[in-house]
Amino acid sequence: MDKLIPKMQKLTQNLWWTWKPEVRTIFRDLDLELYHKAHQNPMSVLKQIQPDQLEQRAADVDVPARVDRALRQLQEYLSPVTTWGITHAGAMRSRPIAYFCMEFGVHESLPIYSGGLGILAGDHLKAASDLGIPLVGVGLLYHEGYTNQVLDANLWQQDVVEPFDIADLPVTHTVDRHGEPVHIMVEMPGRVVHAAVLEVPVGRIRLILLDTRVKQNSPRDVALTARLYGGDQRMRIEQELLLGVGGARALRALGITASVFHLNEGHSAFALLERARQRIQSDGMDPHKALLEVASASVFTTHTPVDAGHDRFPADLATEYLRPLAEGLHLPIDEVMGLGRVNPQDLGSPFLPTVLALKLSRRANGVSALHGVVSRKMWNHLYPGTREEAVPIGHVTNGVHLPTWLATEMNHLYESRLGVTYQSALTRPDTWTGILSVSSAEIWETKQVLKARTIRFIRKRSSDMRERLGLPEIEPAPLDPEALTIGFARRFVPYKRPDLLFTDLDRLDRLVNDPDRPVNLIFSGRAHPADHTGKALIQKVAQILEDPRFRHRILFIENYNIHVGRMLYQGIDAWLNNPQRPLEACGTSGMKVVLNGGLHISVRDGWWAEAYDGENGFAIGTGEIHADQAIQDQRDADDLFRVLEEEVVPMYYEKRNAAGVPRCWVERVKHSIRTLAWRFNADRMVQDYVQHLYLPAAVGSSCQMPPP
Ligand SMILES: *Cc1c(COP(=O)(O)O)cnc(C)c1O
Repeated sequence: MDKLIPKMQKLTQNLWWTWKPEVRTIFRDLDLELYHKAHQNPMSVLKQIQPDQLEQRAADVDVPARVDRALRQLQEYLSPVTTWGITHAGAMRSRPIAYFCMEFGVHESLPIYSGGLGILAGDHLKAASDLGIPLVGVGLLYHEGYTNQVLDANLWQQDVVEPFDIADLPVTHTVDRHGEPVHIMVEMPGRVVHAAVLEVPVGRIRLILLDTRVKQNSPRDVALTARLYGGDQRMRIEQELLLGVGGARALRALGITASVFHLNEGHSAFALLERARQRIQSDGMDPHKALLEVASASVFTTHTPVDAGHDRFPADLATEYLRPLAEGLHLPIDEVMGLGRVNPQDLGSPFLPTVLALKLSRRANGVSALHGVVSRKMWNHLYPGTREEAVPIGHVTNGVHLPTWLATEMNHLYESRLGVTYQSALTRPDTWTGILSVSSAEIWETKQVLKARTIRFIRKRSSDMRERLGLPEIEPAPLDPEALTIGFARRFVPYKRPDLLFTDLDRLDRLVNDPDRPVNLIFSGRAHPADHTGKALIQKVAQILEDPRFRHRILFIENYNIHVGRMLYQGIDAWLNNPQRPLEACGTSGMKVVLNGGLHISVRDGWWAEAYDGENGFAIGTGEIHADQAIQDQRDADDLFRVLEEEVVPMYYEKRNAAGVPRCWVERVKHSIRTLAWRFNADRMVQDYVQHLYLPAAVGSSCQMPPP
């Protein structure tokens, strides 16, 4: 025991465990109930478990040997002999990429993310770690976390703050060369805001997080890092200054000289002004040269295909906040404001961080091929005289971090059929060809195991919620374990149309209640705490589901987060995505489903527009867009029902062999894995960033020549 506990503690000190199921299960096996109560967080399990329970279970489930093995793996992981990064990105070794993002979704127990953007950032860090890319993440530590979704008796979303304690996570204070805690300051109107510089190890990657809970700050400034996306525009610009300016200062204080700044979304755009300011202050560089140099070494990724989705700060407000930076840059305030204006001459116009990021990054990209097209069109007016195709915004399609999202059982199947080292060659198409020769029965049986687990989880969540709300228990238990099970989980906003299937309730009734070919549907998703429209959508769907026709077949699960997501992606048969084209920039949840042997049913939008080949899933609509949204919605709803009735349901239930395996369905699953897994994973995404964006930008930064 005396030796075991410190070893176990050591395992919990690096978030590497978040993508090592064999490490997570050690802690789960100690006490299943405690594990889930502790949000699947090994460090809190270890703190809370009773010593005698630990001793007993350690012997029963072979903990010491498993811990030794995991520790050895961790050591090997942290000191690699060779990696893809050493081979392909060696030039950047001592000068890492600084990756800025407003949110990071690494694990459900570190709730500093709200949704897709943050989870993408978490997956980016993990893949960069696996590939051995020199990269540091820069973000904010929201000490109250993001809110939990709880429905009330009116089926209205309440947003509940659940305090989380960073003492339960491997978050530490960074220290400088003299062993002093590192701390930064950012000027705000009439005051200076202080922040502690903390860090969390994510495999080989350092994630730097700023926290304003320091004694020098007023309560108002302490609240700056309380919550993600809370507050008004003033709070928002202050958070963005803290992230951008504070983040760049933190890197400097830590002695990290980044080769490239990568801004994941525009929230961190002020980092670019601070980077130029540092060059001017310490190297006496000419301001305009400094701005050009910064631009040549910056990469900006935009995620927002709707104009209204971009932050817009009123001119007065932005002017007030940008004065200290303008002084440090030795530039007139109007010139600095002009960097964030579509038309710099229009002095009353608002300041857009996205515009600043575009003007100060030589390399910019959208997150799917289609989103690249949409972004070039949207920002064409920033580049007068440039044809749309020549607008300098490219694309890198998002991908997902396979080890994070893959069910253990699927991993075993892949290891045995594709080779135990398949994870080190995820991006090679030939890694995946072996899937075609796996027997249909093996894939089908694996999926049945996962599905049974997911259905148990969903039933439990649903009955807990009903009990809390005083709703009658559903009897017999809802969801038919043998039925085709389709999931839909995402943020509830109108453009994602979570209610599209509910536009024709009679047709939906016939679809889900066909006695020979029943369908289960699972819905989950949250609205932003301030989004009344999104909450109304949730209420509408949840109310319809109380209809006796649907109660047994369609369930709504509260609090969609990484944990709920993982359970859904792994166990459902098919995933539904029906946004208004082209408003889904990429979408990544469907990729997680494909890796786990499910099929994607989607509008030809985001990644699906480039991924669908006619046989690796299902497509809704033709991709054409009607100018009248109501007509488009009607067409998409019709086609969605048609695809389900004529393609998805028959394929699932027909042509079954003697063992009950639907042959065509499983063939399609194999084809889907074979054609999609190698492309839509985060290793491919990070490799694309390295080869097409980071390396060229790093070269630009080291030669210190103004770009042509
Ligand atoms: C993957 C993921 C998302 C993003 O998926 P979209 O397809 O972009 O909606 C959001 N939330 C959770 C919990 C996820 O795991």
